[in-house]
Order: sequence, then structure tokens, then C-alpha cells
Amino acid sequence: MELRKDPITRSWVITGDDVPDIAPRPESSCRLCPDSAHAPQLVATLSGGQRAVVHPTALYHIEGEASRRADGIYDRMRPVGAHEVLIENPRHDGHLWNASDAEIGQFLLLAAQRIQDLKRDGRFKYVSIYKDHGSSAGQEFEHPSSQLTATTFVPRRVLYELRASREYFTQKERCVFCDIVSQETKQEVRVLESRGDFIALLPYAPRVPYETWILPRTHEAAFERMGLNRPHMLTDLGALLRRTLQRIRTITESFHLVLHTSPNSLHRSGSMGYWKTIDEDYHWHIEIMPILAAKSKSYTFKEVYYSPLTSETAIKRLRDARIE
Ligand SMILES: [Zn+2]
Ligand SMILES: [Zn+2]
Ligand SMILES: [Zn+2]
Repeated sequence: MELRKDPITRSWVITGDDVPDIAPRPESSCRLCPDSAHAPQLVATLSGGQRAVVHPTALYHIEGEASRRADGIYDRMRPVGAHEVLIENPRHDGHLWNASDAEIGQFLLLAAQRIQDLKRDGRFKYVSIYKDHGSSAGQEFEHPSSQLTATTFVPRRVLYELRASREYFTQKERCVFCDIVSQETKQEVRVLESRGDFIALLPYAPRVPYETWILPRTHEAAFERMGLNRPHMLTDLGALLRRTLQRIRTITESFHLVLHTSPNSLHRSGSMGYWKTIDEDYHWHIEIMPILAAKSKSYTFKEVYYSPLTSETAIKRLRDARIE
């Protein structure tokens, strides 16, 4: 596997002819259950049984340097990084929508610890945490888990967000996410639910029907800084995440979830100006993209997202969903 940069969009892609088979293989026993004899290499563990392990077929590897080099007009580098599986719960059926708020809070704490730990490594520019659930989302493990990658570049979507929020901040001296939270709170049209300092809302311009974001109401660029400095807040966040996923699961089983936090600013790169104001202009958040199998055709053409349902209509079904 190697990383190649698209010279037009400046985004990195990982490519190679040795792509591992990501389809879940029927296994006699679960590798991620606590007593597994074939457990992947342990990276970190919390007292509640939440663990981080090395991904058994990792796309990125921790050893060595990225060795970025030219290939004519192109750029390539080795896939140096980290690829971990975050085990959300020791119980095989302990999902984010049926675990206790404290258990989900512990998983979020594990996520914060892993991000902080990997950001200490100056080679890594970004740490992503994401979850693909359901067969049409490309789920890899049956056991409740999310994945983490630490990369020597900032992924494309985050880079877009960073550039756009810096531009907004330059013009208005305000954080665009804070402005969104404040307008949505005032209008109450697309707010799904609030819990403590956190708010779940449906974006004004959704990429897919029922797309939902969870954000802190108080400005904070780095999820891990909030999580490690004020861990008691993670129980509220866990509760809101659980209730939001319960609502979404009344519509569809499959979804993508991604946590967007600030890039690695412990090791500043002089060439990238957006890191000078990052703490003021970026605002961490969670994005949930439900996958509606029947409607998948309508948004597979990703050049322009097409959502056959507005957020104002979608929110009615999510608000009325029967949840615990
Ligand atoms: Zn299991
Ligand atoms: Zn903000
Ligand atoms: Zn985002």
C-alpha cells in the first residue's frame, strides 16, 4: 500500500493492489471479546474493559518515516501511521445505543486518550475516529467497535472544514460552528435534542437524509482536550450519542459516524497557516451519516450531494421516535 496525492484536489489517497478483504469472515469465536485466544495486539485499556488494539489488517503502520518523495509532478509517501480498533464495550452486545451512559462515556474517554497519545508523535498530522455500522456501511467486526487512524496528512473533508472555518473567522472574527449552534438554538427548527453542554442537530444542507451532527455548545477545537480536562462531561455526551443513535436506528441500521477534532497542533507546521488560529476558528463535532439502502441511488453520485428529504422534514420522524 502507498499514499498518493491528487495534484488537482491536493487530497491523499491510499492505494495498492494488496487490499485486504474487509468483508466480515464468519469466525467461530470473536477476536475482540475479552477472553479471545486470538486477540489483536493490545495498545491501551480502561478499567471498564474498553480497549484499543492494533487493527489485524492495518492500512497504516507505526514504524519508520513517511519518506515523502516526488514522482515526476506527483507526490507519494509510505503509509506510516496508526490503525487501531477501539473496543467500545467488553460485552459482545454492548452497543453505543444500548450500553449505559457511563460505559459510553468510558469509550469516549478512551478515544480522547488515544488521540492525545498519538498527537504526541510529531509525524502524525491528524487522528481520525470513525465507525461504520451495518453491512452496507462496510462494517468489519461484529463486536461493538470503532476505528482510529493516525495519518501523516490531514484528510480531505477535515482540510476543507479547516480552510472554510479559517476563512469565516478571518471575515467575521467568529467561529462558524458557534454561529450555527447559536442560530439553530434560536430557531429550534433543526435541533434534535440538547443534553448538558451538547446539542444534536440536523444540518441546514444535509448530504444524506437524517444526517445529524453533535457539537459542544461551548467553543472548543479539540475533542480530546475537553474529554481529558472535563471527563465528567463525557457521560452527557454519551447519553446524547446513545439517544441520537436510537432515533436513527428507527430509520435504518446502517450508518457512518466520524469524529472531527483539530489537527495535531502540538507540533506546528510552519507552512500551514491555519494552525495559527485553529483553537479559535475550529470546533470539534461528531457527524452521523445514516445509510438508507432503498434511497442509496439518490446519493451515490457524490459530485453534488442530493438528499431527497430536507432536515426540517427528517427531524419530525427523529423527534417522534420512541427511544429509551
Ligand atoms: Zn465479541
Ligand atoms: Zn466554536
Ligand atoms: Zn466535520
